[in-house]
Amino acid sequence: MPRKQVVILGSTGSIGINTLKVIDRFPDRFKVVGLTAYHNIRLLEEQIRKYQPTHVAVADEGVKYFKRHASLRKIKIWDVHHDLEDLVSLPAVDVVVIGMRGSAALAPFLKAVRCGKTVAPANKEALVIAGDILMQEARKHEARIIPVDSEQSAIFQCLEGQKREQLKKIYLTASGGALNNVPQTKFDQLSVKQILDHPRWKMGKKITVDSATLMNKGFEVIEATRLFGLRVEDIEVVIHPEAIIHSMVGFKDGSILAQLGVTDMRLPIQYALTYPDRWESGLAQIDFAQLGTLTFKKPDFKKFPALALAFDVARRGGTLPAVLNAADEEAVEAFLNGQLKFSGIYRTVEKVVKNHKNTARPKLSDILSADVWAREEAKRFIYN
Ligand code: MG
Repeated sequence: MPRKQVVILGSTGSIGINTLKVIDRFPDRFKVVGLTAYHNIRLLEEQIRKYQPTHVAVADEGVKYFKRHASLRKIKIWDVHHDLEDLVSLPAVDVVVIGMRGSAALAPFLKAVRCGKTVAPANKEALVIAGDILMQEARKHEARIIPVDSEQSAIFQCLEGQKREQLKKIYLTASGGALNNVPQTKFDQLSVKQILDHPRWKMGKKITVDSATLMNKGFEVIEATRLFGLRVEDIEVVIHPEAIIHSMVGFKDGSILAQLGVTDMRLPIQYALTYPDRWESGLAQIDFAQLGTLTFKKPDFKKFPALALAFDVARRGGTLPAVLNAADEEAVEAFLNGQLKFSGIYRTVEKVVKNHKNTARPKLSDILSADVWAREEAKRFIYN
């Protein structure tokens, strides 16, 4: 059997690193053909030497650095800001894993589906801001999108072999983030480090802050409606701190299917790479007796208003999801740099969403201008 040829966008981030760990288990089934990163040149160089991709894309100083290396001369060194679309459309590529964060993933994502590739997105920004366009193009070009985000992977797995019209609702589970048991009045007294201390998942900084505000879950609500063609009313968020159930799907007859597993991103990554098969992963099995209980509760929309805002944005659609995403990205960055209090993240995003003139059924250009507008508006609010 020929090896599946894989490109990893964002190979030095947590999704990229875990994707390579999965690939390490099956060296005769996968071949890494492309790796991309922004600034982690040292790790990227290690990865290049180990996996020998034909193409690498990296940011400015990295391009200069790698081009100087005689030993890397056979590898094409491209610019991560301009060449990702060329990279994902290489004829050799079978699967594109999108581990990079941010709306910069939209262009290569769109290009990959237009080339009919299988796309395994962990990135949620692209689906949040332009999910309708991506799904429409994927159908048109018969590209497969197999989500890697653990909740979306769970839903995808539960829907396998089921008739879509018999689906009744989705239970999107949330661990609750770092602030699940912290009273709201204490939020602004916590350090960035405390906020970044997620109880269940080890992830990048931006998504960990989004988990603390529950904005991350809000993005997943929007993402799920786009990926699975659901109405917002069909999605219920359930707080499940143990994060053992990764999401559930309810059918008309009252049956509910859930996908369970250890909290390890290698599981959904591997599923996306081996779909529709399941291979031995070597991951720990769940010990139910040791777990004892699984707990559930309703989300507190007052304590976490970002989730309520995201539901509202999901319902209204148009360019608003792009605005929500862009404003949040700016606000979280300001928070991480110590320029905004924790509660300021929500205040900023709410303000920008409120000031936006929504465009219904937007074209890609409308989405991109809304993104630019929202960033400027957010900065104006934060720094004035
Ligand atoms: Mg998730």
